[in-house]
Amino acid sequence: MVKPAGRPGAAGSPSPPDGSASGESKSAGSSDADPSVLPRPLPPGFSPARFEQAMAQFAAIVGADNVRSGAAADSYDDPFMPAADPRLFAASAALLPANVDEIRAILRVANDARLPLWTVSTGRNFAYGGAAPRLAGSVVLDLQRMNRVLEVNESLAYALVEPGVSYYDLYAHLRSSGSKLWVDPPAAGWGSVVGNALERGFGYTPYGDHAATQCGMEVVLANGDVVRTGMGAIETGTAWQLFRPGYGPSFDPMFMQSNYGIVTKMGVWLMPAPPAYLLGEIQFERDDDLGVLVDTLRALQLDGTIRHHAVIEGAIRRAASIAPRARWYDGAGPLPEDVVAAIQRDLGVGRWNLHYALYGEPSVIDAQRRIVERAFAPVRGVRFAAKQYAGDAQPQGGGDRNLAGIPAMTAFRMLDWLSGPGAHVDFSPLCPATGADALRQYHLVKTRAAEYGFDYYGGFTAAGRHLHHVFAAIFARENRADAARAGDLLRALMSDARAAGYGVYRSHLLYMDYAAAQYGFNDGALLRLAETLKDALDPHGVLSPGKQGIWPAAWRDQRGYT
Ligand code: ADP
Repeated sequence: MVKPAGRPGAAGSPSPPDGSASGESKSAGSSDADPSVLPRPLPPGFSPARFEQAMAQFAAIVGADNVRSGAAADSYDDPFMPAADPRLFAASAALLPANVDEIRAILRVANDARLPLWTVSTGRNFAYGGAAPRLAGSVVLDLQRMNRVLEVNESLAYALVEPGVSYYDLYAHLRSSGSKLWVDPPAAGWGSVVGNALERGFGYTPYGDHAATQCGMEVVLANGDVVRTGMGAIETGTAWQLFRPGYGPSFDPMFMQSNYGIVTKMGVWLMPAPPAYLLGEIQFERDDDLGVLVDTLRALQLDGTIRHHAVIEGAIRRAASIAPRARWYDGAGPLPEDVVAAIQRDLGVGRWNLHYALYGEPSVIDAQRRIVERAFAPVRGVRFAAKQYAGDAQPQGGGDRNLAGIPAMTAFRMLDWLSGPGAHVDFSPLCPATGADALRQYHLVKTRAAEYGFDYYGGFTAAGRHLHHVFAAIFARENRADAARAGDLLRALMSDARAAGYGVYRSHLLYMDYAAAQYGFNDGALLRLAETLKDALDPHGVLSPGKQGIWPAAWRDQRGYT
């Protein structure tokens, strides 16, 4: 999963982060923009007058400065749209509320007007749609102004945050307050803690499963009701961020990859800084070493030797973090095998490169390192490197900093792979953690990608029993034919994967319906359940219609695209 460069500026050009990126301000407010003369879609079926009336009511709630329309809403377009039309899913406008009361007032207007909203925390969900809505013409509800770290509990090791808090923000907050707690950043640290957990994103430390390390939410439902989940329902409670189930049904997971509510607060567990840690890399020479790598790693994860999400990086992904493709090859089509081998020699990297870490007492780390190296030693040509650090040390090198709980923009360099402004769309099939499955998925993706003219830029994030296999189709941002070809490739890959019994764990807006349809047991019982809940909770269909293929009755005729 790569989420490079946060929400772009109006020109759609992501700029490198500076650590304070999440608070970036947008350009002009709405007051000087006339949506009726700008090519922004209205919600389906809305007349300009009906839309303008709702917008006037919204402006009265959040203030005109916190409404973005016309050109000022361009920053909500998906800069990585994998289709010929870059604005297939354009928003009509965006609202930036300051608090829960404003959100509830917005919901009253939206319900009255039957107007679809699309919630984002910081809107940096790049490669999966960015801040753009699934239903063109929806109004983006952008929560970036709600950006307080509400609580950090040092001894119980958690934080309670609002949606606008990015990983950089939380990290800065912890460091400046002298906390000894780590964050677990995903590949792009400028996204939000809340948005990432809600999408079931992941990071790289032992707290890398963000859906699992989330505990307790405050959620505004479509009817304006404010719910606190789990122990948070006890009004002067003491354990909201400590015990997710609470009493009775447990709802936190229901608000992940769904459109059932607007999350306004979230608890997140934080990892106490270890006394020491080791960052290791193990390089493997050949394509087929992936099999033994995965089988060996699984055993080390299941027995607890390696306790975090280890990263298996393909050679091209590794190379793309160092230099553009043109350094080695300027031909069209996928890189020939001999060029990939030349890259390996040039950079001193493997065909597969395993990044792992060990956390704890130095003497224990030493012993675990020996166990790890002994396990992989039988693989012909394997190369080991490792370095141990004190718990508060700051290693150099973007990728590995993530393993030490330091946000970075690891994935940013990949956008230069084609030597111009790049974009990518990600194919993210879940993979059983067996060598046979990993090799099967790898060859399936590599072969199909080559057929469409794309390099295999990919790798796996290993989490014990499963791997997240993430392949990115990188294309030139301004070349719409290439964007469409990347989109076509994604569709073919999803179909290939389905035929082999695999499913994606996440999807770009363009394929949300297609992905949902693949989870089709018993004639689509899962989606029927999701839409039964949707209709009960959101009868007017105002919250993120179409997200994850879940369409409310009011907009069900909009399903499709793939
Ligand atoms: P990022 O943290 O990478 O900026 P986004 O803010 O784009 O992520 O959020 C990713 C997705 O998660 C959004 O498209 C939306 O569907 C969902 N989401 C994000 N924040 C919220 C929220 N506060 N409430 C409900 N859904 C949300």
